[in-house]
Amino acid sequence: MPLRLSRTTADGLNEIMTLHDTAFWQEKAARLRPETRAFINGAYCPAQSGRTFSTINPATGQALAAVSACDAQDVDRAVRSARLAFESGVWSRQSPKERKRIMLRFAKLIEERVEELALLETLDVGKPISDSLRWDVPNAAACIAYYGEAIDKIYGEVAPGPDDLVSLVTREPLGVVAAVVPWNYPLLMAAWKIGPALAAGNSVILKPAEQSPLTAIRIAALAVEAGLPPGVLNVLPGLGPEAGQALGLHPDVDCVGFTGSVDIGRRFLTYAGQSNGKRVGLELGGKSPQVVLADAGDLDAVAEAVVAGIFSNTGQVCNAGSRLIVEAPIHDVLLDKIIAASSAFAAGDPLDPATAMGAVVSREQMERVLAYIDQGQTEGARLVAGGRRARAESGGYFIAPTVFDGVGNGMTIAREEIFGPVLSVIPVRDVEAAVAAANDTDFGLAASVWTRDVKRAHQVAKALRAGTVWVNCFDRGSISVPFGGFKASGFGRDKSLHAIDKYTDWKSTIIAI
Ligand code: NAP
Ligand code: MG
Repeated sequence: MPLRLSRTTADGLNEIMTLHDTAFWQEKAARLRPETRAFINGAYCPAQSGRTFSTINPATGQALAAVSACDAQDVDRAVRSARLAFESGVWSRQSPKERKRIMLRFAKLIEERVEELALLETLDVGKPISDSLRWDVPNAAACIAYYGEAIDKIYGEVAPGPDDLVSLVTREPLGVVAAVVPWNYPLLMAAWKIGPALAAGNSVILKPAEQSPLTAIRIAALAVEAGLPPGVLNVLPGLGPEAGQALGLHPDVDCVGFTGSVDIGRRFLTYAGQSNGKRVGLELGGKSPQVVLADAGDLDAVAEAVVAGIFSNTGQVCNAGSRLIVEAPIHDVLLDKIIAASSAFAAGDPLDPATAMGAVVSREQMERVLAYIDQGQTEGARLVAGGRRARAESGGYFIAPTVFDGVGNGMTIAREEIFGPVLSVIPVRDVEAAVAAANDTDFGLAASVWTRDVKRAHQVAKALRAGTVWVNCFDRGSISVPFGGFKASGFGRDKSLHAIDKYTDWKSTIIAI
């Protein structure tokens, strides 16, 4: 039973969830014919080479579609189109009121297609349809709307100075921005980059991850339907070493907004050095600690938040709370509650609205996660839940929610980003040891602390070296709060008005009067 939605209110989404069952989504999936071509200068087109690559449904292991494999020639074309659009002023010098109108319309079109986009996302990356519907698509739309709203609310400055000078300090767009994004939240990560970059007046080239190109390709047409002029948003599906590298090295790309692995992020710094010194913003994941102190209080609530913090999105979250650092007196009780709570995340069919945890994105990623699980056992951690592939008969890439106890902070599973449903429980004797373990990591994206003592909450939050610290919660927030890392987790911030800093520069105009 199709349901037309004009607004993605919580009520509307709950209604979809109750009206549509697995069979509905399966039937809709069977009829789906996704667009698979690149989007350059306002139109879909194949890669110039004619080559394609397969995108796989990780819940079945079957190919979903053959997608245009863009390379350096396509990058050249897209950059030329983006540059022309930028220089023409058709968007960069358009009135704030008009740009805002178009971005709000773009957000609305995404919202109106919540079912179609959620299904594409779920099929492409194996995430539960309930997550795509309630989280990914509505938040992507809300992000675009937020930056649309910001356009006519951001002011420049008049600097103090001598009486015979007026000094204006204004924000200027950079020009051509490349957004290179990963597969864990394909649409949402794209929105976090293109929202502020477009709002600032730039032209954008979006390169989705090879595992998850379909929603990015789809929304390009929605942007143009909303009135975004041709060339202002281009989408280039393709492989990292081809399309991604060509964007990184291109002398006429002014800025790269990147989310993904540390290795590739650092490669973009090299590309920038080898080409035009373009700006680079990096969001590179983490090994986030969830610190639970002995006075945390309601341990049922803590356990629920801890498991959601690691098993949501199959643990494929840059800020996943993959290290649970727990004070000794409550360790045993909390561990039992966590093992019990993790059953809510049993791997299930992503098209079943009741499923809370779907597949990992690819066979390669599944094998990588299973290898970490083996390594944890080899290094002496105690496996207390999961630890194996699940639903193998489906042909898909599922892993049972996995918990290791007795993990030393020096073990590989406590140091490297696994990007899968694996929690490492690290017992500590007191609060000082907890903070030391939490900060003893290369990363610094996010952290949490649970305590009922307001003074300790402030002290520990202050001591944690992370871009985001949650107190008595995990992964809460809103688009208005900056997000990004310290240390190896990168630099530059997504979300909030501060994200606009990455895609603009300050210009000083000094007028003699
Ligand atoms: P990745 O390789 O860093 O991919 C991120 C983006 O960079 C993708 O669009 C990718 O394209 C592109 N890319 C890959 N190689 C490139 C190259 N040589 N030059 C230019 N661009 C390139 O991440 P991944 O392989 O998807 O995941 C690997 C690990 O990274 C994960 O296991 C996880 O630890 C981490 N990760 C972190 C985040 C995060 O949110 N911080 C997100 C995803 C992954 P292709 O898709 O074509 O390779
Ligand atoms: Mg896929």
